[in-house]
Amino acid sequence: MKHAPTVQSKTVVLVGGGHSHALLLRKISMKPFPDTRVVLVSDVSHAPYSGMLPGYIRGLYSYDEAHIDLRRLCGHAGVEFLFGKVGAIDCVEKQVVVEGRPSIHYDLLSVNTGSSPDQSHVPGAYEFTVPVKPVRSFLSRWDNIAALIEEGEKRKICIVGGGAGGIELALNIKARFGTRVEIALVHGDSQLLRDHNDRVRHIAQTLLEERGIQLFLMHRVTRVFDGHLETQVGTSIAFDDCLWVTSASPNPMIRKAGFAVDDRGFLLVNEYLQSVSHPDVYGAGDVASCPTSPRPKSGVFAVRSARPLERNLRNTLLEHPLKSFVPQKNFLSLIGTGDRQAIASRGNFAWKSSLLWVLKDFIDKRFMSKFHDFHREREDSDKDGRRKELRCKGCGAKVGGATLGKSLELFQEKFPKNLLCAIETHYLDDAREIKFRATERVFQTTDILPALVDDDFQFAKIATCHALSDIYAMGAKPHSVLVQLLVPLASPGIVQERIVTLLSGIGDILQESGAFIAGGHTSEGSELMLGLTCNGVIPEGQQVLRKGGALPGDVLILTKPLGIGMLFAGHMRLLAKGRWLEEAIKVMTQSNKAASEIFLASQATSCTDVTGFGLIGHLKEMCVASNLRGVLSLETLPLLEGALHLSERRVRSSLSSSNENALQFCSFEQEVRERTLFPVLFDPQTSGGLLASVSRDYAEKCIAALKHAGYERASVIGRFEPGSAGITLQ
Ligand SMILES: Cc1cc2nc3c(=O)[nH]c(=O)nc-3n(C[C@H](O)[C@H](O)[C@H](O)COP(=O)(O)OP(=O)(O)OC[C@H]3O[C@@H](n4cnc5c(N)ncnc54)[C@H](O)[C@@H]3O)c2cc1C
Repeated sequence: MKHAPTVQSKTVVLVGGGHSHALLLRKISMKPFPDTRVVLVSDVSHAPYSGMLPGYIRGLYSYDEAHIDLRRLCGHAGVEFLFGKVGAIDCVEKQVVVEGRPSIHYDLLSVNTGSSPDQSHVPGAYEFTVPVKPVRSFLSRWDNIAALIEEGEKRKICIVGGGAGGIELALNIKARFGTRVEIALVHGDSQLLRDHNDRVRHIAQTLLEERGIQLFLMHRVTRVFDGHLETQVGTSIAFDDCLWVTSASPNPMIRKAGFAVDDRGFLLVNEYLQSVSHPDVYGAGDVASCPTSPRPKSGVFAVRSARPLERNLRNTLLEHPLKSFVPQKNFLSLIGTGDRQAIASRGNFAWKSSLLWVLKDFIDKRFMSKFHDFHREREDSDKDGRRKELRCKGCGAKVGGATLGKSLELFQEKFPKNLLCAIETHYLDDAREIKFRATERVFQTTDILPALVDDDFQFAKIATCHALSDIYAMGAKPHSVLVQLLVPLASPGIVQERIVTLLSGIGDILQESGAFIAGGHTSEGSELMLGLTCNGVIPEGQQVLRKGGALPGDVLILTKPLGIGMLFAGHMRLLAKGRWLEEAIKVMTQSNKAASEIFLASQATSCTDVTGFGLIGHLKEMCVASNLRGVLSLETLPLLEGALHLSERRVRSSLSSSNENALQFCSFEQEVRERTLFPVLFDPQTSGGLLASVSRDYAEKCIAALKHAGYERASVIGRFEPGSAGITLQ
C-alpha cells in the first residue's frame, strides 16, 4: 500500500476557447480546481485575440502575437485539451456531444463559444459572403484574398456592417493595400457605430471618407449574388469579395439544448453568469446574455467575465455561496485605424491620436503576454483540501467489475459485434481461445504507451496505430488484439467514461484493420497507459516483409514525416505550438495499413516501422539484416512543422541520447553533424511511418500510390549500396 494521487470526482467541461475561458485557464494554472477533471473542448488550437485581429490583418502583428495557443495553455493549466467541435449539448443526460468522437459527461458546464455574424436573414449571404467569424475560417479565406492582392490583382472588397469590427477591418485593409483595393462599407442604419457617442461616429466617418472608402449608409442588404449585392433602396454594389460583419448571433445549439435563451437565442444568465434555467451551466462572453446588466457583445466583457466565472465555478464545486458580477457600464474602447493611430471612445469622450495607438498596443501586448510568458505558479494544491487515500496495488488495483461491465456494455452499443466477439464471453472464461487457420502464419507483437496527448480518444487511436504498426511492417493482416488499460484513479463515472472513450478510439482504428478485441485487463494506475498485444496473420506462401532482404540499388522510402518525439518533448516544456501538435497527431493517427499494402504491391524487399529508436536506429537494423550500406540524403527527409525550430532550441526527447549510440555505425562529414536537422535522425517516433526498400523501377509508382493513399509526405530518402553494413549520411 502507498499514497496514491488525488481522486478526480467531478468533471468540468469548458466549451469553446473564447477570451473568458482562456483567462479562466490561466487562473486554473495558478490555482487548480480541487479534485476536478477539467476538459476544454475547442474547435481551434489557436484562439484569435479580438483586440489584435484588425492589426493582424493589417500586418502589424504576427499570427503567434495575435493568437492564444490553447493547447499549450491547457498543458500549463493541467487541463485536458480536446480538439473538436461541439455539435450539441444534452442537458438532461449532461453530455457534451463532440463531432466524430464519444460524448463527454459534465457535472459543471461552462460555455464560451462567442458569436458569429447573422447571415440567416439575407438570401445569398451564406453562399456568397465571407463571415468574419469563426475567425479561423475567415482568416484562411482572407489569406487567399490577401495573396491575390499581393500578387498584383486589384480587388473590390465590400464590407457589410458598420460596427466597430466592420470599420476596423475597412481601415486596416485600406491601410495595408492602399490603391490596390477599392472598399465599400455598407450599413443598414443612418449612423455608424451604434454603441458609441456622436463624436466618435464623426471621427470614424470622416476618416473612412478621407481614406477613399465608399460609404453606403441606410443601405440594408436584401440579397447577395455571386459578385454583387442588392440593398433595400435598390442599389446594386459589385464586389470581388464580400466580408460579412453584421450583428452577432449565437450558435443555434444553445437554443436546441433547451437552455433558457433571449429573443435572439443567446444563453440567458443571471448575475452569477449561471444559466437561469440550468444551475449547472455557466456562460460568458458573447454567447451569454444577462438581462439585469445588458452589455454590447465585445471582447472586453468576455475578458472581464473570466474572474467571476472562475470564482463561481470554484464556489459551485466547493459548495460555497456564489458571488454576483455587474460589469461596468462605461469602458474605454480603442478602435485601431490602421495607421498606428486609434480612436478612443468612452461615454461621451472621443479622441484620435497616435498616442492612443501606443496605449492600445501596450494594453493588447500586456494582455497577450499572460499567454506567452508562462512560469510555474501553481499553488500547493493540498491547500484546497485534496483528499489523500490509500489505494491497493496488485489485483486490488483492478477497476471495479460494475464500472468495467458498464463500460463494455456502452462500448458494445457503438461498435459492431465482430469487433467485440470476445467481450461477450468476458466474464465466462478465464482466457480467450483463438482459432487460426492451418494455412496461416501468426505474428505477435506487444506495445504499451503512456498517454502523450490529453484527449483519450486520440491517444487510443495513436496507441492502436502504433501497436498495429509492427504487424503492418511485416506485411501481415491484423487478426486480434488484447488490451491493457491503466486508468488514473477517479470516481467510477469518470473512469467509466474514460474506458468507453479509450475503447472507442481503439475500435475506430480496429474497424478498418479487420481485427477484433480478444480480451484485456483494466487497472488503476498513477497515469494513463494503454497497451495492446496484437496478432497478425499472413497466408502461407505470401511474402513476409522483413528488415533483411534489401538489394543494392534499392531506394529507401519513408511514409511519414519525422520529429514527433521532439514536438512532444517541446510540448512538455510548453515550447511547441498547438498547430504543430495538431499536425503531429494527424500523422500519428494515420494507420500504416495502406502503406503496408502498397509496399507489398511494390514488391518491397525489406521493411520496418520507424518508432522508438528513431530513423537511424531502425535503418541500422535494416542495414545489418541486409548486410548493406544505407545512404541517407538528409536534404530529402520529410519533417513535421516545428521540428527544426525545436531542434535549434536543443529540445530533445529523453530517449534521443541513447539512440545516438547508433552514430558509431554511421559515417559522415563534420558539416553534416552541425546541421539543425541532425538530431532529428535520432528522434524517437510514436506511431511513425514505415521505412521500406523498393527496387528503383517501382519507386515512382510506389510514391504516387502512397501519396494517393494519404501519405502526403512520403519520400525517397536514400538508397542501399553494396559494402559492409553501415550508414552514410549526406
Ligand atoms: C473584426 C473584429 C474586430 C473586433 N475587435 C474588437 C476589439 O478591438 N475589442 C473588443 O472588445 N471586441 C472586438 N470585437 C468583438 C469580439 O471579437 C467578440 O466580442 C469577442 O471575440 C467575443 O469573445 P468570446 O470570448 O465570447 O468568444 P470568441 O472570442 O468568439 O471565442 C469563441 C471560441 O469558441 C469556439 N467555438 C465556437 N463554437 C464552438 C463549438 N461548437 N465547439 C467548439 N468550439 C467552438 C470558437 O472557435 C472560438 O475559438 C471584434 C470583432 C470583430 C469581428
